[in-house]
This record gives sequence, structure tokens and C-alpha cells, in this order.
Amino acid sequence: MPEGRIIKALSGFYYVQSDEGIFQCKGRGVFRKKNITPLVGDFVSFDIREESEGYITEIEPRTNELIRPPIANITQAFIVSSAVMPDFSTTLLDRFLVHIEAKGIKPIIFITKIDLLTEKQLKMIEAYKKDYENIGYQVELFSSKEPQTVENVTKYLSNHVTVIAGQSGVGKSSLINSLRPDLLLQTADISKSLGRGKHTTRHVELIEIYRGLVADTPGFSALDFEHIEAIELSDCFPEIRELHDQCKFRGCLHAKEPKCAVKAAVEEHRIPSYRYEHYISFLEEIHSRKPRY
Ligand code: GDP
Ligand code: ZN
Repeated sequence: MPEGRIIKALSGFYYVQSDEGIFQCKGRGVFRKKNITPLVGDFVSFDIREESEGYITEIEPRTNELIRPPIANITQAFIVSSAVMPDFSTTLLDRFLVHIEAKGIKPIIFITKIDLLTEKQLKMIEAYKKDYENIGYQVELFSSKEPQTVENVTKYLSNHVTVIAGQSGVGKSSLINSLRPDLLLQTADISKSLGRGKHTTRHVELIEIYRGLVADTPGFSALDFEHIEAIELSDCFPEIRELHDQCKFRGCLHAKEPKCAVKAAVEEHRIPSYRYEHYISFLEEIHSRKPRY
């Protein structure tokens, strides 16, 4: 039976890319009974009924899946933060990082709009870049106005399924457009010139860019901590996760506990204080969450 990967879902059809080309397929009733719906990103087997049309017969187990956008088997996420307009925010960046870490997806950080920076602002951004690199993250500076920075993005794409995350207006669409000008996703500028608000695309699609697949819809839009438990939070901060075994108490949440290796590291400036502050404020947010019934 032919095998492939769903790269697009539209009006009840799934478009499966295989070595033989792209096939338009339908799901089958069996999936509904099993309470599973095929997702873009799924590896599937399918049965060809007519030329270029078929039925999905089997879905391979997923490594992960997102609800918004509905995509499975994501291997990395680009977190896009602008340096200015809106101002760079480590709080928001850390929020995105936690959600991506919690899904077991590899994050890569992009700081955009660097063409708009004064020298002083650039120095500040470079200091943050260093902080996050010390934690172990890859960080790239980018400007859609400076074509030479495009390579900072393209080098990550091949053989990956990438979701792009980041708040509105940071330059996600501009970043994709600078990689694939033929695609031209709607940026804030274009929707303004069209007037009458933004019309958003309803379908989900993985588009091929530099031998990789990139989701055309941004991910991780809901950033509450609904699905993250207090004990899991420290696993989403690599520099805290690393010290976990050195705390005196097993299950240390690195808050009020004595002899905590994490707090010692913060005092000795081995962990940036803002990272620890965000950890504590996220922890409080989780603790103050209403119990789920
Ligand atoms: P999105 O909402 O994250 O997709 O952001 P857009 O791509 O729509 O960009 C928002 C606004 O920022 C638009 O007016 C873009 O032209 C502008 N913009 C995006 N990236 C850059 C950049 O690197 N430099 C400058 N100067 N402007 C940018
Ligand atoms: Zn501790």
C-alpha cells in the first residue's frame, strides 16, 4: 500500500505527498470510531481508488501534535520575537519557550527587525542573545529588510517540520515571505492596503521551503499554563532542569525550599535573574489555577 505524509487538509480532503506525487485522499469512518482524525503532518498509508484519488487506511503513531494549528510530528519551532515594535520581551519569549519545551519540540529563537535598532539597542539585544545561547538555545538575528540575514533562517529548514510561533506583528509572515517571495503570505502591510480587515486562511498546509516543511499558520497562540503541572515546569527551563538533581529535596520546586541548587545558581549569577523570576511567576500562575474537574 502506498505511504506518504499529509501536507494539506482542505474541505474534508487530505493531500498526501508520496514518492509518486500528491494524492487527494479521504479519511475513513474507522478513524471517527477510534476517535482519531488524520492531521496534517501525519505519516499515512493509503489506498488508491482512482487516478490520484484515495482513502487513508492507516495513521502512523505521532511523536507530537498541536491543536492550533492542527499539525502532527513537528520537529522544531521558530519563536519569532521582534527587537522593537513591539519591544523585545523576555517574559513573552520565556512563555513561548515553556510551551514548546513542554511539547518536546526543539525551539530556535529569531529576533527580528534588527534594522530598526540604534547601536545601544543592538548591544542590549546581543547581550540577551548571549544569555539564551548560554542556556543552550540557538538564537539568530533577522531583518526582512536585509537580505543577507535570510541565510540565518534557511540553514535550519532542511529535513524539518517547522512551526512558527510569536505574537502578532513581530514579523512572522515577513520572515516566511523573504524565504519564499513567490508565496506571499499576507503581512500587516498587505491587509491594510486591501482594507476591510484581515481575511485569514481556513486551511492548514505544510509548505516546502529549502527542503523542509513549514506550517503556513502560526502555532502556540494560547499561552496559558492549563496543561502544564508545577512539577513539569522546571523541565521546561534547561538551565534549571540541569541542576534539578543537586537540590537537597527530591521534588524541589526551587521556590521556598532550603538548600536549593537553582537558587544558589541565581545568587551566583550563573542563571539570569529574569529567567528565575519568570519561572517563579509561571509557577505561581500554575498554583493559582482553578482545579480542573
Ligand atoms: P506577523 O503578524 O508576525 O506575521 O508580522 P508581519 O510580518 O505582518 O509584520 C508586521 C509589521 O512589521 C509589518 O508592517 C512588516 O512590514 C514589519 N516588519 C516585519 N519584519 C520586519 C523587519 O525585519 N524590519 C522592519 N523594519 N519591519 C519589519
Ligand atoms: Zn531546587
